[in-house]
Amino acid sequence: MALRADEFKERLAGVVGALDRISANVRIVCVTKTHPLDDLRVVLEAGKLDLGENYLAELARKAEVLDVEYRPRWHFLGHLQRNKIAGIAALATEIHSVSRREEVISLARHGFAGKVYIQVAAAGGGGERSGADVGEIPALLDLSRSLSLDVVGLMGMPLPGSDVEVARYFRSVANLADQLGLAEKSMGMSGDFLIAAAEGATVVRLGTVLMGQRSL
Ligand SMILES: *Cc1c(COP(=O)(O)O)cnc(C)c1O
Repeated sequence: MALRADEFKERLAGVVGALDRISANVRIVCVTKTHPLDDLRVVLEAGKLDLGENYLAELARKAEVLDVEYRPRWHFLGHLQRNKIAGIAALATEIHSVSRREEVISLARHGFAGKVYIQVAAAGGGGERSGADVGEIPALLDLSRSLSLDVVGLMGMPLPGSDVEVARYFRSVANLADQLGLAEKSMGMSGDFLIAAAEGATVVRLGTVLMGQRSL
């Protein structure tokens, strides 16, 4: 079903109101992956220019049309596949999902001049998790800086868990960012953004709660 402007604005007002009660100055990235162009136009017409996408092909298709009309800021949230990095570097404004040395080197080689977040792995995730281990992050940061990438913060996605466990993870990401002198904490999705805001998020990445259910 197409996203209606009044429906989107009402959801956005609800989210902004809830965030304002917890913390000033949390930026909202509206995660638009899988949603059609007309839904993105609704978001952009409402004045929200920070859009999140996970797949290069989809981002490219949308950017080709919307960059001309609106100049959105594209936040890339997905895996940085080796053969996609050049395209991502060319289109994204901010990349939230950097976690490996090769990605850092490749982004620098392709002249990525936007903002970078290093993704912190959730502890105990096992094989499938994404993100860098806490111990690897200072070296990744040094490498990024030596290659003139603009690392502004850390990104964190918790494993499923209780509110207490999720809060503890967000707090650890925020503390690590503070220790490293990184101002931005990209933490919190539809299910946990209020917890994230309470633990110091400066950016929340919200899909479902603003856009409605994703079609696959
Ligand atoms: C899809 C996605 C989101 C948004 O998820 P919702 O639960 O729909 O808010 C946020 N961050 C990342 C990294 C995502 O992949």
